[in-house]
Amino acid sequence: MKLETLAIHGGNIVSDSEKPVVQPITLSTTFIHQPESMIYARANNPNRHALEQLLAGLEKGADAAAFSSGNAAGVSVFQALEPGSHLIAPDDMYHGLKNAILSIFKGVLEATFVDMTDLENVEKAFQSNTKLVWIETPSNPLLKITDIRAVAKLAKAKGAMVACDNTFATPVFQNPLDLGADIVMHSSTKYFGGHSDILGGALITKSEDEFWAKVKNVQIGGGAVPSPMDCYYLCRSIKTLPYRMKGHAEHAMVLANFLSNHSAVEKVYYPGLKAHPGHEIAASQMTGFGGVVSFQVKGGAEVADRVISKLKYFINATSLGGVESLIERRAASEGPDTLTPQNLIRVSVGLEHLDDLLEDMENALA
Ligand SMILES: *Cc1c(COP(=O)(O)O)cnc(C)c1O
Repeated sequence: MKLETLAIHGGNIVSDSEKPVVQPITLSTTFIHQPESMIYARANNPNRHALEQLLAGLEKGADAAAFSSGNAAGVSVFQALEPGSHLIAPDDMYHGLKNAILSIFKGVLEATFVDMTDLENVEKAFQSNTKLVWIETPSNPLLKITDIRAVAKLAKAKGAMVACDNTFATPVFQNPLDLGADIVMHSSTKYFGGHSDILGGALITKSEDEFWAKVKNVQIGGGAVPSPMDCYYLCRSIKTLPYRMKGHAEHAMVLANFLSNHSAVEKVYYPGLKAHPGHEIAASQMTGFGGVVSFQVKGGAEVADRVISKLKYFINATSLGGVESLIERRAASEGPDTLTPQNLIRVSVGLEHLDDLLEDMENALA
């Protein structure tokens, strides 16, 4: 089945005798005891089952686990590691997960943050207790590109697992499991949900191995699971994911080119640009470059804030992946310890008409 077809039919597991075309929402927290039935909604429920089947299919994995947020999904991987394990993660890692490693897992796990665009940094970071290499590509917010195949090869040789945060690419543009990763992570709050109204996360595994059993134990025992309503809405949203992603990427490419040629702009970050240092690797592992563009304006934080305040259609709010364009000065959201330049603006390019978006940006930068 092709991706577009799977997106529509893969999450529609209808068992009702009336045969509705769309899977109903099963709100029941408990199920009548019988040999093959589900038991309790934290362990499983029909809507989560449908979502997990769909996600496993989209990422070409053996199984998936849905969570109540992207952070819950990421943290579950870290929780499944043995205490005392070491992990390697990117310096430009989603700040909420980086903060979780540094705070929640302080004294439990060791972590080394490196610039993964240089493989030598990854190679040097391995220790005898390194169990996991965490990849995020394209990264948030600098759109750094990590060579998934090369890092997976290094990790395999050292006996470490590889997990990849695929939130920015989505399975429409990148399948990390095909490139050597063992686990894929998503914030489904972003493109999967696609309408800025669902918080969710997911993990997808290449094989149902011992580590995956530990992850499932954290999911069910820890209980950070999404509600049947959230699962239903995600299955519904994912039906249009392939077409939304094509629109986001097309608009992002045009906006990135427009910004690159603008005299008020200092630097543009978008892996679809030939000038992006990771462009060739991105082109070798992605079939599209995603919908997020970051750029630095000439001048400091005040100039960036002024540009943002003049926009009509780009909404000054954090998050990304919705149909509406969102924009923010990223360092302000990441707090005082951020490595993100103060004049960097992150744009989640939406599905409004491109002419309106370009006109709005032109006026704001003038
Ligand atoms: C938003 C985001 C997360 C965290 O997801 P939540 O759903 O907000 O918990 C993780 N990784 C990336 C790349 C993100 O953009």
